[in-house]
Amino acid sequence: MDVVILGGGVFGLVVATRLVEAGIVPRLCERGASLGEGAASWLAGGMLAPFCEVATTDRSIVAPGLSGIDWWDHAAGCVERHGTLVVQAGRDGAQLRQFAARAETHEWLDGAAIDALEPGLAGRFRQGLFFAQEAHMRPRLAMARLAESLSARGVPIAFGQPAEPADFGGAWVLDCRGARADVPGLRAVRGEMLIVQSDEIALTRPVRILHPRWPVYVVPHGAGRFMIGASMIESADARGVTLRSAVELMNVAYALHPAFADAQIVEMRSGLRPALPDNLPRYVASARGGALAGAYRHGFLLAPDIARQAVEALLQARNAA
Ligand SMILES: Cc1cc2nc3c(=O)[nH]c(=O)nc-3n(C[C@H](O)[C@H](O)[C@H](O)COP(=O)(O)OP(=O)(O)OC[C@H]3O[C@@H](n4cnc5c(N)ncnc54)[C@H](O)[C@@H]3O)c2cc1C
Repeated sequence: MDVVILGGGVFGLVVATRLVEAGIVPRLCERGASLGEGAASWLAGGMLAPFCEVATTDRSIVAPGLSGIDWWDHAAGCVERHGTLVVQAGRDGAQLRQFAARAETHEWLDGAAIDALEPGLAGRFRQGLFFAQEAHMRPRLAMARLAESLSARGVPIAFGQPAEPADFGGAWVLDCRGARADVPGLRAVRGEMLIVQSDEIALTRPVRILHPRWPVYVVPHGAGRFMIGASMIESADARGVTLRSAVELMNVAYALHPAFADAQIVEMRSGLRPALPDNLPRYVASARGGALAGAYRHGFLLAPDIARQAVEALLQARNAA
């Protein structure tokens, strides 16, 4: 079966891996010159947080999200299962109570329990929520591991090759071009992020800090690196990070721990999350293939499940053809 995948972001890499597992060796074309160039996936925090994400989306993401965590563990081997801590800057706790009412499977922590869980935050917060079953990983490491494993199994990525579905007459095409995929209703949601370096802060797990505009989070990426993200702006504006967003992200990181004031900024970038009207990703079948579309905030979390659906649908379409 001749299958071409357009786009080497997380959806493209995961569906390529799923195809190989099903005995099909696809071709993969990526517009960027190297892994991650131009991909929203390269900017992700790597939070695998199905229960926290229910607060802003639908509870249908929980089961595929949990199986997605297991899939990444098996396929990339870099999942860290330490849960998620959610805290609120300020003392009244109203946003924390609201978040607790919308999210699932959490435990309330008092100040002493937060200090025991994250000694690096000792004395800073009086209450918080702990989501023990959640996980995180370094998304760039996970993508690199998938790309290496694909290459070893005969699926090298053809970099610097922008392509359209119409370029491959006769082949089955899976459109994984992110915000550029050809799917009705697809829009872009701009996200801005920072990566900073600090040897003065130690965190074991992602920490979400509730904030009136966006849920800001800090994800430890190891070796003193922290990803601070992310804005949520309904816009396809692909310019660099605005001053306003940078100031807000930095302020929230500083509210989490004042030592962030002395952290070195390593990267400051913006990307476009592909999103469908209900903000839920799905496989959209077309005449000869389909699109894995609308990853939104859940690209890493839900890619394994959407890719599984895509491969099943593709095999059914082939058998019916
Ligand atoms: C700041 C930020 C933080 C995030 N944090 C998280 C998180 O913690 N957890 C999580 O699960 N998700 C997170 N997300 C969301 C997630 O990153 C995205 O939803 C997901 O990466 C989108 O994946 P994708 O493969 O659909 O698109 P992309 O990653 O954008 O990949 C699309 C690829 O297609 C290529 N392409 C485009 N046009 C062509 C063409 N014509 N031919 C060939 N190739 C082409 C692009 O170069 C790109 O490599 C975050 C997103 C952002 C922006």
